[in-house]
Amino acid sequence: MKNVKHAKCVKCGKIYEAVPNLTSCSCGGILDIVYDYDYIRTVLTKEKLAARRDNSMWRYRELLPVEETTENTPLRVGWSPLYEADTLAKQLGIKKLYVKDDGINPTASLKDRASAMAVAKAREAGAEVIACSSTGNAASSLAGNAAAAGLRTYIFVPSRAPKGKVAQLMTFGATVISVQGSYEETFELSKAAIDRWGWYNRNAAINPYLSEGKKTVSLEIMEQLGWEVPDYIAISVGDGCTIAGLWKGLKDLYAIGFIDKLPRLISAQAEGCCPLNRAIETGGDWKPMEENTLADSIAVGVPRNADKALMAIRESNGLVVNVSDEEIMAAQKLLGRTCGVFGEPAGVTGAAGLKKLCGEGKIPADATVVSVVTGNGLKDVANAIAACGEPISIPGDMDRLLRAFEENGIVVE
Ligand SMILES: *Cc1c(COP(=O)(O)O)cnc(C)c1O
Ligand SMILES: [Zn+2]
Repeated sequence: MKNVKHAKCVKCGKIYEAVPNLTSCSCGGILDIVYDYDYIRTVLTKEKLAARRDNSMWRYRELLPVEETTENTPLRVGWSPLYEADTLAKQLGIKKLYVKDDGINPTASLKDRASAMAVAKAREAGAEVIACSSTGNAASSLAGNAAAAGLRTYIFVPSRAPKGKVAQLMTFGATVISVQGSYEETFELSKAAIDRWGWYNRNAAINPYLSEGKKTVSLEIMEQLGWEVPDYIAISVGDGCTIAGLWKGLKDLYAIGFIDKLPRLISAQAEGCCPLNRAIETGGDWKPMEENTLADSIAVGVPRNADKALMAIRESNGLVVNVSDEEIMAAQKLLGRTCGVFGEPAGVTGAAGLKKLCGEGKIPADATVVSVVTGNGLKDVANAIAACGEPISIPGDMDRLLRAFEENGIVVE
């Protein structure tokens, strides 16, 4: 890889050669991939990108840690739409709002970006089996992307994972282990199994390439905005790999001179599980929390990418905001009704956090904000119905329809 120098531990600074099956540092710290930006400047220009027909995350290969000979993964991951959400911007009292709908990815979450990267690196490592533990979306995205590439998967999910995600896993033919316990226990079991059988490891805590895949979300946002940097980007946070990746992409673009400033990040977590935001608020280290929220994808009591995530929030002079499950459900409704975007609870937590900050007067009225929707609502229909209610249910009869309209106060013009 001519564009990659090496991997470096974010804790102790130790340097490692960037081999495909990199794990974490001997000190326990996570590694970060370090690029040769001088080289990248010579091979990538905005014009070259603009002319590129590949509308997937692989359009940014010069900024990704893969060998030149590595094939693009088969599913079309990335290049999700960035919608102008003018109605919602007005409601929130800000100048401009964009909604990046990453729920339209092949397995319906932003995690596809990391899983496609994992599949590419597993192929480079010559692996035939990939494994991970996940709250659900990392699992389904790995299972789908691996199936398309002809690789087998072993997947560990906590038993609370919503049915939609489990259905994806079963459809993609993964060997699924549903662990009767917390995400923390699920993670520990997957780790022990991976150590025992030597599978390729797609745990974001361990594999430093995953946040490099996830960073393509911010590369896209910036290209879609014509390299005009927004004031804020709001996103939901669990393990912390996503927000760390988002920040890495922005810093890459800054380093190669594609953008001239950096936005502030908005880290949104659930009130019932916000160990990273609490660390920022208290200025101290993070401490484990219960996993007490309906936003299952970000119910992570022991965040595995804490160092990278906290660094990203702090470096960006970011804001943190914790939202209740009620506020998350309200945001599901709001995005659905003003944007036609259907997010799962964790998918809309960034928007819920943005709404809360706007209500508290913490976002200036002239701000431009991007809110990333990280997962699709169809993955968890039970919570969507809980948030938005049941439909009118009647027999197929006009009289009953008229009566139902009357009873529900619906005036038809
Ligand atoms: C995984 C996930 C997140 C958070 O990503 P982390 O890397 O765990 O912080 C947010 N939303 C959805 C839908 C996810 O699946
Ligand atoms: Zn180290």
